[in-house]
Amino acid sequence: MADQGVRPAPPAAPVKAKKRPKELAVVNQAGCTGCEVCIEFCPVDCILTVPGPEYDQHKKLVEIDLDICIGCKLCVKYCPWDTIEMIPSAESLRTASGWTQRSVLPDAEWIQNVPGVEIVREGPLPLPGTKKT
Ligand code: SF4
Ligand code: SF4
Repeated sequence: MADQGVRPAPPAAPVKAKKRPKELAVVNQAGCTGCEVCIEFCPVDCILTVPGPEYDQHKKLVEIDLDICIGCKLCVKYCPWDTIEMIPSAESLRTASGWTQRSVLPDAEWIQNVPGVEIVREGPLPLPGTKKT
């Protein structure tokens, strides 16, 4: 008679590490008009608006969640203001920290530890090249 015992479960397939894209998209917020065209084209919805508390609807900026970006380049292609660039993945966080003036990513810890980078959380965004008084 055949063995009626419970068969052991087959070994689980090894979990493959998520492969990072070679390049990730980074918004230079100094050139962003908040038109949101890029958001329409992103296939993984990783472009976020970063409204400021005193801004009207036309003064939103956007930033890209680099943990989700798949590097498809569609946002770069369709940004009317050419203010998104593809950056090598290993350099993308540092580049983003220099180009980000407002952030909504969780606590923005990645940006707060970069010397010389200031996130504007309140009030009007200073124009590029100007300083707050
Ligand atoms: S490169 Fe692709 S996935 Fe990344 S933000 Fe742009 S549209 Fe989205
Ligand atoms: S398409 Fe370009 S200018 Fe428009 S919101 Fe996106 S990054 Fe900003």
